[in-house]
Amino acid sequence: MTTIFGKIITGELPAEKVFENERILAIKDLHPKAPVHLLIMPKKEIPNLQSVEEVDLPLIGEIITVAQSLASEYDIADGYRLIVNNGATAGQSVSHLHFHLIGGKNLGGMA
Ligand code: AMP
Repeated sequence: MTTIFGKIITGELPAEKVFENERILAIKDLHPKAPVHLLIMPKKEIPNLQSVEEVDLPLIGEIITVAQSLASEYDIADGYRLIVNNGATAGQSVSHLHFHLIGGKNLGGMA
């Protein structure tokens, strides 16, 4: 696997894992933007949201289920954001699909 997240998935790089199964990995963001800032990603190398195919949709659904569980576990179930930055113009810096789960403070409105 080629990206930082790919290397975390294969164990070549370390990360603080908060959830893992055969298909999905969730880790703590290295530079958290809020008290809770987790990254949930498929182990399959999908570069971005725009390249998700119909065959991947069950995986995306499972990622949402994992996000719900982590939101409960981290006590933010009543207020969080689940964000995907798609493409460099939107701020995507790692070309391996990942969902930011952010909460634990008042997030205000969307900028
Ligand atoms: P994005 O800008 O949407 O691609 O998000 C990439 C995120 O990955 C940023 O919030 C970074 O802080 C985070 N990040 C980068 N490298 C690592 C790493 N080695 N472990 C955990 N999070 C990382």
